[in-house]
Amino acid sequence: MSTGPGLGWPDRANESPDDQLTGLGWPGGEGEDEGEGEAAGAEPEAVRGETGSGTGAAPSGHAMWGNTTSGTAENVGYVPTNGGRQQPPGPRKGPSQGESELVREALKDAKVSQETSGAALKVMSGRREQEWPRPASCRIVTIANQKGGVGKTTSSVNLAASLAMHGAQVLVVDLDPQGNASTALGVEHHAEIPSIYDVLIEDMPLAETVVAATDIPNLFCAPATLNLAGAEIELVSKVARESRLRRALEAYETDNFDYVLIDCPPSLGLLTVNALVGGDELLIPIQCEYYALEGLGQLVRTVDLVKAHLNPRLNVSTILLTMYDARTRLAAQVAEDVRSHFGDVVLNTVIPRSVRVSEAPSYGQSVMTYDPGSSGALAYSEAASEMAHRNTEAAK
Ligand code: ADP
Ligand code: MG
Repeated sequence: MSTGPGLGWPDRANESPDDQLTGLGWPGGEGEDEGEGEAAGAEPEAVRGETGSGTGAAPSGHAMWGNTTSGTAENVGYVPTNGGRQQPPGPRKGPSQGESELVREALKDAKVSQETSGAALKVMSGRREQEWPRPASCRIVTIANQKGGVGKTTSSVNLAASLAMHGAQVLVVDLDPQGNASTALGVEHHAEIPSIYDVLIEDMPLAETVVAATDIPNLFCAPATLNLAGAEIELVSKVARESRLRRALEAYETDNFDYVLIDCPPSLGLLTVNALVGGDELLIPIQCEYYALEGLGQLVRTVDLVKAHLNPRLNVSTILLTMYDARTRLAAQVAEDVRSHFGDVVLNTVIPRSVRVSEAPSYGQSVMTYDPGSSGALAYSEAASEMAHRNTEAAK
C-alpha cells in the first residue's frame, strides 16, 4: 500500500498544480477561469459564463477568504448577482455619470450571468419535477473507503443535495472528525455544537444534533466536531461499541427520511465500523487514479466480517467512480478495471474532475447550488438519479 493515501492523505501525486490548489480548498484564483480541471472541457461556454453567479455566495465562515476572488474580471461580473446566502460585498452603486465602458460591460456580463444562471437553475428545477422513485422506507447508505481523498465527503454531500433537490428527505450523518461534510452543507460544527460525538459517546439522542443544511430544503445534517477524533479511543471501552450509531439511528425516526447518508473518515477504525453496522447499503467511491483498487480488498474483507457478525443486512450496493479525467488514458483504464471487477454495482455515471466541485465546500455549499450547470453538478445529479432508480429493493 502506498503510504500517502493509506495514511489518509489525499492522493495528489497525479494532479495538476491547479487541482492541488483547489484540492486544498482554496478558491481557484485565475486558474479557475480556464476550467482546468473540467474533464475534456465538458461544460458548454454559456454554462461556464454562468459560473460567475455561482461565486456570488460569499465564503461562509472563512473570513480570510472574503476578498480572495474580488478584483478579477469575472468577479466584477458576479458582484451584482448577489445570489448567495451570505452577505456579499455591499451593493454596487448604479452607473454614475463617469461610468466607464469597462463597468458597463461588466454590468452587462452580470445580467447575462444572471440569465444563464436562471437557465441552469431551470434545467435543475426541470429535473426536480421529474419523479424519482422514493424508497418505501428509509435507505441508510454508508459512504466508505479507508483511503483519504477519494471523494467520500464530496459524494455524500452532492448526492444528498441532489436527492433532496428532487424532493427526498435526506439526512447526512458526518462521521469524520474533520467535519468536511458539515462545512460543505453550511452547518456549524465547532466544539460546543451538539454533534455525532455526543451521540456516540454521551448517548445523546440523534434528534438533538440534527440541523437543516443551508440553501437546500429537505436536507439535514448531524454534524461532526473535532471531538470526534477522540471517539475512536473512547469507543473502545463502551458497551456495544460497534453498534452505537445503529442504536442511535433506530431510536431516531429515520423513517421520516428517504435517505440517510453516512460520511466516513479515511480509516477502518471503530467510527467506520459503526457506519458499516449502522448502514444497510455501502457506497464505495473510487478515485480514477493509479492506486484506485489498492486497499479495496481490505475494505471488502471488513465488510464481510461486519456482515457475518454484526450487520447481515449490509450490502455493497453502489460503486461510484470519482475525479475522472477524460484527458488521461489512465482514468479510462481504471474505470474499465473497476467495472470488470465489480460489475453492475458500478454506476454508469462517472464524476468528472471539476474545479467547481472542489471550490464549492469553501463557500459552505454543495456544487449543486454553487454551480448547478457545471459538469460536476450535472454528473452528481445523474449519479443520484441512478441511485434513486436502482436498489430501491435494497431498502429495509
Ligand atoms: P474524502 O472524503 O474521501 O477524503 P473528499 O471528498 O474530501 O475526499 O475529496 C478530496 C479532495 O478532492 C477535496 O479537496 C475535494 O474538494 C476534491 N474533489 C473531490 N471530488 C472532486 C472532483 N470531482 N473534482 C475535483 N476535485 C474533487
Ligand atoms: Mg471526507
